[in-house]
Amino acid sequence: MTNQPRTFAYPSKKAKSCPVCGQSSYSKDGIHPQCAVQLADESRKVQLQAARKQASQSGQKKQKSWNKQCPKCSTQLHVRRKECDCGHVFRQTKSPSNG
Ligand SMILES: [Zn+2]
Ligand SMILES: [Zn+2]
Repeated sequence: MTNQPRTFAYPSKKAKSCPVCGQSSYSKDGIHPQCAVQLADESRKVQLQAARKQASQSGQKKQKSWNKQCPKCSTQLHVRRKECDCGHVFRQTKSPSNG
């Protein structure tokens, strides 16, 4: 009967390789502090670009300007409409010869 306590053999002080630069790193997380900063900066840059892209896309959406507002009921009507549903008649831009 052998009652020996099991001992896990950890690899002693094996250098991890930094995921950013590929160089061996002895730090706790296996990544150089300056590389960690670079990594965070990189992801931030990507987010910034994505945000900028979205902003430019949303800015392209323009509201249609082919509407005019009825002064009587404030309804948006097409510019070519001569009468509003409320009965308001828009003045013609071309003034008739007879007054
Ligand atoms: Zn590194
Ligand atoms: Zn109206």
